[in-house]
Amino acid sequence: MTPQEALQKYFGYDNFRPMQAEVISEAMEGKDALVLMPTGGGKSVCYQIPALLREGVGVIVSPLISLMKDQVEALKANGIAAAYLNSSQPMAEQQAVITEVQEGTLAMLYVSPERLLTRDFYNLLKSIPVSVFAIDEAHCISAWGHDFRPEYTKLKFLKEQFAEVPLMALTATADPTTREDIQEQLGITNTRQFVASFDRPNLDLMVLPANRRIEIITRFIQDRPGQSGIIYCLARKTTEQIATKLRNAGFNAAHYHGQMTPEERNRVQEQFIRDQVPIICATVAFGMGIDKSNVRWVMHYNLPKNLEGYYQEIGRAGRDGQPSETILFYSYGDVQMLNRFIEEGGNQEVERAKLDSMNEYAQAKICRRKILLNYFGERLTEDCGHCDVCRNPPKYLDGTILAQKALSAVVRSQQKVGLQMLTDVLRGSRKKELLAAGHDKIKTFGAGADLSEFAWQQYLLQFIQLGLIRPNFKHNHVLELTPTGEAVLKGEQPVRVVSVDTLMQQRKQEAAEKAVRPKSKKELFYDGLADRLKSLRYLLAQEEGRAPYMVFSDATLEDMQSRLPVAEHTFKAVSGVTDHKLKQYGPHFLEEILAYIREKSAENATPPKITQKISWAWYQSGLSPEEVARQREIAPPTVHSHLVDLYSQGFPLDPMSFVSDWEIEQVREARKELKDPKQLKVYFDHFEGQVPYERIRWALAVIDEEEKAR
Ligand code: ADP
Ligand code: ZN
Repeated sequence: MTPQEALQKYFGYDNFRPMQAEVISEAMEGKDALVLMPTGGGKSVCYQIPALLREGVGVIVSPLISLMKDQVEALKANGIAAAYLNSSQPMAEQQAVITEVQEGTLAMLYVSPERLLTRDFYNLLKSIPVSVFAIDEAHCISAWGHDFRPEYTKLKFLKEQFAEVPLMALTATADPTTREDIQEQLGITNTRQFVASFDRPNLDLMVLPANRRIEIITRFIQDRPGQSGIIYCLARKTTEQIATKLRNAGFNAAHYHGQMTPEERNRVQEQFIRDQVPIICATVAFGMGIDKSNVRWVMHYNLPKNLEGYYQEIGRAGRDGQPSETILFYSYGDVQMLNRFIEEGGNQEVERAKLDSMNEYAQAKICRRKILLNYFGERLTEDCGHCDVCRNPPKYLDGTILAQKALSAVVRSQQKVGLQMLTDVLRGSRKKELLAAGHDKIKTFGAGADLSEFAWQQYLLQFIQLGLIRPNFKHNHVLELTPTGEAVLKGEQPVRVVSVDTLMQQRKQEAAEKAVRPKSKKELFYDGLADRLKSLRYLLAQEEGRAPYMVFSDATLEDMQSRLPVAEHTFKAVSGVTDHKLKQYGPHFLEEILAYIREKSAENATPPKITQKISWAWYQSGLSPEEVARQREIAPPTVHSHLVDLYSQGFPLDPMSFVSDWEIEQVREARKELKDPKQLKVYFDHFEGQVPYERIRWALAVIDEEEKAR
């Protein structure tokens, strides 16, 4: 069996993702490798296929027990013999696994590093053939990485003791220093590094100003019923508050943070994985060791500390490669708070630089994906087209006067105002603190009353970003003029700003999108089917006590929807359907799709393109076009016209079962003679009614295809 065939047989996919094929062939040749791929890039397949194809058991070292369990569960769901060994198991269970290893019936064994390092385990491994060693989360080996685990450093013995077994180290996060360190420590310094792109094109990126967050979140969730999502918050308290607010608004949400008992945390995590609670408000403690592939959106209620964390967190959305959304709420207050944290902490310089990058990203006026990838050392040449900046390119305007008003107020307040107070001064507010401080005497008091508070804050943030004013973190964040600011104030330098209209426009648009637009017939058709497939998946998963995404991923359901299979052989063509799953789940899903199509046909409410697919679905279930017509209570020529259209679109149909060579020749001649008429009726009359309409149709389609192929 080739790796490609194994991919199809065991995982139900037709094509490898970038890098997978190369990595696998390296291991098949017995060579070691270091593999860097983003979360969701498809690392598992890289060692699972060699483990399946090479002789012996594949040994996978994984630091997290929950991940181990999920991986084994997912493999079993595909009919692959896999097991795990760790200290959380009862003795008898461990013994049973060891017996399986000895008997050579396992394809894969997951172990914790602690277990791998025991003498017993070493003896076990020495007594059997091993196909491949895979070190998952390999960055844990390096003190340079962010998740150092001392046990990992002892893994060097693998290469020393099992020189002939290919060793693969895999991680989603490793800068060049960490990479070298991993190779060094594992004793695989002369091996190839496989570095996949860290771009996650299926993640939509969006940053919104942080006012009216709850309102925006509620509307967002409302528009996406049943979708799984995570809302990351800075403080434990916030996670609880938001979860409560969402529950009060009628959503099924829970919170998660480090202060909860391990039992509580496990329960919430399990409910999330199993689609029982779709929305989790959590601190960043949540998500490590969760493999759930159908997380559809991730929000940051607060600004993350750095881009590494941000990218890792949004990376938890869309592991299945399906379109997924991310929203970051940006507020200047968060920047101030994070700066205060940094001041209390150790590595101030590094952390401040990281926060600056985070801040720049959040305030970016160019393609966000460009900035992100650039930060991780990759260059994107084209704008991505699916971040908020690409969708809504900023409009610039001359902000010199605006800046001068603000800067003058800063100077005249003797540099004693922060962002909020400055806004109030410019707008001529009569707040008590303002009056008490005598700021209403400032010359520019009320000079910007024509702009909203929101608008001023957005402009002031831009002035900070442009380096005209600078908050003094050591002094209550009061704003100070910089030399550039002085030059602007003196009229020596113009200022260009992004129009706040753009920002407002963008928010309005995001809010209006989807919210009111009535659904098209096509969307209604697929929505109804999607809901039914999801419920069925949930029920089947429930029966088996596994997570729904392990039955079929969202990507598989999506593909199922658009293919509308009603027969086994076409069901098998759906991405992610293996023989094993076909047997186990196929009949249930086929029945559901068939029932749905029947109901929709009876309603006679199917939009044009879909009605063709329905005819196709019946046809491929083994009915003749005439029988399909009877089933659907439509005319046989209509069914033929559907099939002809699909044939022209490239569907695998054989026209020769509907029209003879001789008829095609006749039509070809007639076409020349009649000078390519547009109506079928002209042909029909030409043949004096001797050739039925559908045969003329088929013949013309064949002739068209021939001409296209020329
Ligand atoms: P990682 O470990 O790199 O985060 P996974 O190995 O969990 O990623 O894979 C992420 C998802 O992508 C899984 O749902 C997996 O089944 C799917 N996947 C992996 N390889 C392919 C492929 N070649 N085609 C389609 N889907 C794939
Ligand atoms: Zn972009």
